Amino acid sequence: MNVRTAPLKVMPDTQAVMAVTHWTDTLFSFRIRRPRSLRFRSGEFVMIGLPKEDGTPLLRAYSIASPSWADELEFYSINVPDGPLTSRLQKIKVGDQIILRPKPVGTLVPGYAVARSASQRPACRGFPHQWSDRGYR
Ligand SMILES: Cc1cc2nc3c(=O)[nH]c(=O)nc-3n(C[C@H](O)[C@H](O)[C@H](O)COP(=O)(O)OP(=O)(O)OC[C@H]3O[C@@H](n4cnc5c(N)ncnc54)[C@H](O)[C@@H]3O)c2cc1C
Repeated sequence: MNVRTAPLKVMPDTQAVMAVTHWTDTLFSFRIRRPRSLRFRSGEFVMIGLPKEDGTPLLRAYSIASPSWADELEFYSINVPDGPLTSRLQKIKVGDQIILRPKPVGTLVPGYAVARSASQRPACRGFPHQWSDRGYR
């Protein structure tokens, strides 16, 4: 007998949920597997989310709470009443898949704004720290 099965839907950039903790009615945290390729600095955030009904990703910015050397990524989330993502995210369980865009964004790290305008900051000349295109060193 020739049985045809629907092709498996594979969402790109998904990671398994390793742990979920509900701290209060409005605050929970969860940990996901960290892709080996993802490197980040403390204070950076990533886009995470869940697939919408039509299969497209529903993404929101989340600050990474775990240290940069951890094997897992930890996030703390509020629960926005009727929030498109958090009303679903608060129901995640261990083993569920979460979308993680593997490129961290670093606008909330020390020195980001100043480093961006380094060429226009004569007042900072002689500042005792070094600056680079990656920010504060
Ligand atoms: C750089 C950045 C980092 C973020 N990091 C986190 C994080 O680590 N944890 C987290 O829970 N959220 C974080 N957020 C907010 C997050 O992206 C979502 O907005 C939030 O999870 C709610 O998603 P939602 O789809 O349920 O509701 P949304 O449609 O995104 O928001 C619904 C309403 O709730 C408000 N809201 C969203 N987040 C908050 C908040 N934290 N406190 C008070 N009001 C809020 C929005 O302004 C909006 O009015 C971050 C946002 C940015 C820009």
